[in-house]
Amino acid sequence: MQKDREIWDNLTLKNGIIGKENCPFCSLAKDEEQLVLFNTKYWEIRYNKYPYGWIKKHILVFPKRHVEISKDLNDLELLDLKNIHKYLYDFYETNKYFSFLRETFQWRSIKHMHYHYLPWNIQWDDFASILNKQWY
Ligand SMILES: [Zn+2]
Repeated sequence: MQKDREIWDNLTLKNGIIGKENCPFCSLAKDEEQLVLFNTKYWEIRYNKYPYGWIKKHILVFPKRHVEISKDLNDLELLDLKNIHKYLYDFYETNKYFSFLRETFQWRSIKHMHYHYLPWNIQWDDFASILNKQWY
């Protein structure tokens, strides 16, 4: 189900920022249902369809409502986020993971705010390469 990151890089290179009309987080294609890992009332966790360097446990967390900036999350969404955090702690089986938030539009991405979660054991060179690709 997961695909090579290069496919995503080429898509966003052509299309830039993906807005609400084509938002992959606001809809779920039938052939992508296997990517869904966990749901709460207000949040969803999916495996990244295009993981960095084939890191299988590269996952994405996002509110079910199309929210572009985290300051616009409502109280119910923020409270429910705690259930996501509990799930992720068990999912990674340790506390060895890290995350970062994407919610700004200067670079290629999806406007719908989302957190990337990655296992901690990534080599610095790999991470530098990931960031380099995001920011040109
Ligand atoms: Zn959306």
